[in-house]
Amino acid sequence: MRTRLVIIGGGPGGHACATTAARLGAEVVLIERDTFGGAAHLWDCIPSKAMIATGNARSFMGRVTRMGLHGAESDVDLAKLKERLAAIERRLESSVRTLLSSQNVEMISGIGSLLGPKLVGVETDDGHREIEADAIVLATGSRPRNPDWANVDGERILLTRDCYPPSVLPEHLVVIGSGVTGVEFVHMFRSMGSEVTLVVSRQQVLPQKDPEVAAELESDFLARGVKLLKGARANSVSRDGDEVVVVNCEDGRIVRGSHALVAIGSIPNSEMLGLETAGVESDRGYVPVDVHLRSNVPHIYAAGDLSGRLPLSSVASMQGRKIAEHAMGMTARSHRHLDYDKAASAIFTEPEIADVGLAEADAFAAGRKVRVTKVPFASAAKALINDDSRGFVKIVSDPATGVVLGGSIVGRHAAELISVIAVAVTNGLTVADIHESILVHPTLSEALSEAAE
Ligand SMILES: Cc1cc2nc3c(=O)[nH]c(=O)nc-3n(C[C@H](O)[C@H](O)[C@H](O)COP(=O)(O)OP(=O)(O)OC[C@H]3O[C@@H](n4cnc5c(N)ncnc54)[C@H](O)[C@@H]3O)c2cc1C
Repeated sequence: MRTRLVIIGGGPGGHACATTAARLGAEVVLIERDTFGGAAHLWDCIPSKAMIATGNARSFMGRVTRMGLHGAESDVDLAKLKERLAAIERRLESSVRTLLSSQNVEMISGIGSLLGPKLVGVETDDGHREIEADAIVLATGSRPRNPDWANVDGERILLTRDCYPPSVLPEHLVVIGSGVTGVEFVHMFRSMGSEVTLVVSRQQVLPQKDPEVAAELESDFLARGVKLLKGARANSVSRDGDEVVVVNCEDGRIVRGSHALVAIGSIPNSEMLGLETAGVESDRGYVPVDVHLRSNVPHIYAAGDLSGRLPLSSVASMQGRKIAEHAMGMTARSHRHLDYDKAASAIFTEPEIADVGLAEADAFAAGRKVRVTKVPFASAAKALINDDSRGFVKIVSDPATGVVLGGSIVGRHAAELISVIAVAVTNGLTVADIHESILVHPTLSEALSEAAE
């Protein structure tokens, strides 16, 4: 008899799991209440990057005169932008559906929950259905945190999901939260023409990142007229009349703007999932998992943001694939566990920021001896051709063996370029392996090769 795998949540975690398990011979049912492709396609990764692309194109138009063209920044047409986001979302959902049906995954549109350790219920437009499962995957994702003190109204006081696009372009947006999401939205709105103030709770934006990388972003923000309010923890946001919002900070500082965006993290979608009914333990709504992504109930797995691990779409997909392999009994073969410390990540500001593996600051903090090589993009011909020589490549390696331990890139296409260092970190390659590869000229990758020399 075929293993029946029932997955709740059709985001990157759920649909990657579904296709892999189906390919390995499972009978797969995938339940999604909204869009197959998940919040990643509908609310998070894709619409945010599509809006950033519009902002980048606009700021590029402001610079083209330097490249021998006549051009000028134009205003953003929010109605056209809205159509574009909807078209991208339709295209992506259709390709996810095509992929799932090509693997004979049964897709059910409805709200899923656990009715018992091996029983899943689904509420659909046609009524209630119950499905027995050999294994269950919970991949219901997360949503933006909406704190009581913020008085979010979706009009002037916003969460990220109110921004795709907002009904009017904010004249002056106050962004609360200087993590990855906060800084991406600062960049997005600044490049579309809004004035922006960023409320930073510590003394550095991106507090988890390499200080040198964060400093590069801060100086870019300041050069572009973004105001940084450092060491300021917001504790209330409210409206003052029709057109003004007021952000109060714990130390008494006050910022006024036309709009505020609250970007202070997310919370898991697990309230109505029936975790207790099936005996699944949770921790503040997240489902703790072991190395195989199993909850405390061995045949119930959790993937993606719900697992409380690194909240990235790429990580969710990899977790989904690993779960499929484990549920289909592939633990015996050389099956690598997911190493979260080797996941590459990027911040889509301009310049982009990307990193993977061991950071220089963390190596020093741990007293670990490392070799650090840093090459500015200014030395690459392609950067001059692009008229954009901001940023650098930094590679962290083991001084004894040359094995690449990590790296950071700040600059154009950093999110693409980091892949070379990520492959090296994951596979134990050395700096010589990178340096001896013949890369294309002229490209920004040449700075990578130089840093690996
Ligand atoms: C603004 C923003 C930008 C981001 N940008 C990036 C990026 O550029 N790159 C990156 O790697 N990560 C990015 N992330 C993170 C990324 O979006 C998440 O890590 C990723 O979506 C997690 O995937 P998932 O499968 O866990 O869940 P999701 O993508 O959240 O999908 C979960 C799905 O489950 C469904 N669901 C929930 N409950 C039920 C239920 N009871 N029954 C049926 N269906 C249910 C939901 O409708 C949803 O479709 C971003 C996050 C935010 C907030």
